[in-house]
This record gives sequence, structure tokens and C-alpha cells, in this order.
Amino acid sequence: MSKVWFSSLKENVSAEEISGKVIQLYEAAGFDNIFQEDEFVAIKIHFGEKNNTGHINPQWIKPLLSYIKKKKCKPFLADTNTLYRGNRQNSIDHLLQAYEHGFSIENLGVPIIIADGLLSKNYSEIPIEGKHLKSVKVANDILHSQSLVFLSHVTGHILTGMGAAIKNMGMGCAPRSGKQIQHADVKPRVNPERCRACGLCIKWCPKGAIEFYDGVARIDTKKCYGCGECIATCRYQAIKNSFSGSSMMLQEKMAEYALGVLKDKQGKCCFFNFLTHITGECDCLSKAQKKVTNDIGILASYDPVAIDKATTDLLIEKTGKDLLKKLWPDNDYNIQINHAEELGLGFGSYELIEI
Ligand code: SF4
Ligand code: SF4
Repeated sequence: MSKVWFSSLKENVSAEEISGKVIQLYEAAGFDNIFQEDEFVAIKIHFGEKNNTGHINPQWIKPLLSYIKKKKCKPFLADTNTLYRGNRQNSIDHLLQAYEHGFSIENLGVPIIIADGLLSKNYSEIPIEGKHLKSVKVANDILHSQSLVFLSHVTGHILTGMGAAIKNMGMGCAPRSGKQIQHADVKPRVNPERCRACGLCIKWCPKGAIEFYDGVARIDTKKCYGCGECIATCRYQAIKNSFSGSSMMLQEKMAEYALGVLKDKQGKCCFFNFLTHITGECDCLSKAQKKVTNDIGILASYDPVAIDKATTDLLIEKTGKDLLKKLWPDNDYNIQINHAEELGLGFGSYELIEI
């Protein structure tokens, strides 16, 4: 059984209070022992797409970064480029977006590295024994770091039901080509009865796979690579994922990618899940989303499976319903947790230690 530390949060508390809780969790869990002098420490975070407001606030992690730096190691904030079209698709735009949201070396005292390089070609193929995959692509600057810290903002997700630690590892540390492999089973289809021919999906499709035909949008399945951007974009719910098993495949592949990320890093990783400003969709959406429940708190663990399981259990306990399942009834978030446990990434049973 793994340990998960939890610090609850009230609504509208100051950044200072939140950053103080992060440090309390860091100390309670003894994460200080992970980091050694001179080693590279990749701190994986999502900087938030343009206009997104739900992402982890840089002020919440400032003292944490100072604590890690005290170990005389070399921490840096890391993310990888996105599959979808937006402000984080290449390293230049991605870095500028991160600075715009306050993640600067001047503010935080640590640099940012987009770990898969300028055009997402900086990765290695890592052999694994998965159900679907025998190798996965991991961004080199994460792979070459001796220690990893995962700071994950918990949200719902249009294709996986939930985004938390497992998704931050599996999808978040993959180059664009690795993300594409994980999404390959997503098969969107347009319902012509619902399509209002607004053209937004055509504008946002990164593969030019959508065009109008007989006055409604139509997807060329040969060009489509399943990123799901059109599903998220359509305001009229005219585009649905037509392969019912695709969320399962995506989540299981994501867990297998996480296995590759953690390979040879036993005892060198720690995880924080922020149950703050929880939104129905992830921070890749270029808009300020309303939160779907009150803030709950912050979790910390050495175990990515236990922390995600504790996250879903707390969400049910604090909201009195299975909130994420209500939001995404077709995408059972438990798949990623269960498959990660089957792969040996951690344990679904845990001891919750409230501090
Ligand atoms: S975004 Fe939706 S409504 Fe607009 S063209 Fe595409 S499918 Fe039709
Ligand atoms: S049609 Fe395919 S490639 Fe284009 S946005 Fe939709 S899922 Fe992505």
C-alpha cells in the first residue's frame, strides 16, 4: 500500500497559503531525499494554453523550486510540444506562452526547457513490455534527467475522462509523434444533422482533414490522426468519437507511455496533484473555463497510481457524486489507473495521510 499525503484547501485562499501547503507536503513526504547534488531535475508542468486560467499558478511553486535548488542540483521546468494547433506546438511559441503566464527565470529562478526540442524531434525510443506497445517515445531532456517531479493540475478530459499524474507522464512527456500514436484510435465523425457549417473545426484541424461537402463538414479519415481537436472545438456537439473503444485504447497507451517515462527512475520521482480550479476540460483549451466544483486541496505521493486513485476518490467524496463520470460518461477514467497498476507503475490501494 502506498502513502498519499493530502492538504485541504478552502476557496479563494492566497498564493502564499497554497505555496506553503506545497512545502508542508514536500516535507511530510520527505521528497528532499530524492534529489542529489549536480543531477538534473525535470519538473514537469503544463504552462496553460493561451487564455487558460486554470493552470497551476507559478507563485504556488516558487518556494518548492527554492527548496529543490537548495540540494545543489539543477532543476528546470519542463513540458513538451502539443499535437493540436495552438500556442504550444513548437518550442518558441511554447516558451513565450509560458513567460506570458509568469513562468520566467526572473520570477522563479529556474529555466524552462521544452524537453522534446524546437520541432519535437528530440526524443528516444524506449523499449517496454506493454499490452499494446513494445516501445515508446520519450522526450530526451526528461529522459536524461536523473530525477522527475510531476506537478499535475487535475481536470476532466474530453478523450480520457480525467487528466492527472498518469496523463502528465504518458502524454505530457511524449513528443508529438508519440502523442499521435496514443491518439491513433480516436475516430471522429460529423453528425450532418447537427453541423451548422460554422467552419471552426476546419480552421483548427492540424492535418487539413476536414472540408465542407454538401454544406456540412466532413472528415477525411485517411488524413485524420485522431488528435480530437475538432471534437473539442465544435460548439454544437456535431462531432463525436465514433469508435467506442478508443478512449480505452488511448488511456492504456498513455499508461504504457508513462511506464517508459519512469523506466530506470525508481525512487527518483515524486508527484503533486492540484485539485484546484477543477475544470471539465484540460488546460490545453484556449479559454478561461469555469470550475466544476470547489477547490479540494493538494495531494503528494511517490506513487502515480495511488495519487490518481486518491484524486478520484476525493473528488467523489467531496462532491458527493462521480463528477468526472457525469461529465464524460463515455470515457471511464478508471481505465488509465487500472492499466497503470497492471503495468506495475504503482498501487490503487493507499493510505491517505492528512496534514
Ligand atoms: S465546428 Fe461543428 S458545426 Fe462547425 S463546421 Fe465543424 S462540425 Fe459543423
Ligand atoms: S479531423 Fe482528425 S486530425 Fe483533424 S482535428 Fe479532428 S481529430 Fe484532429
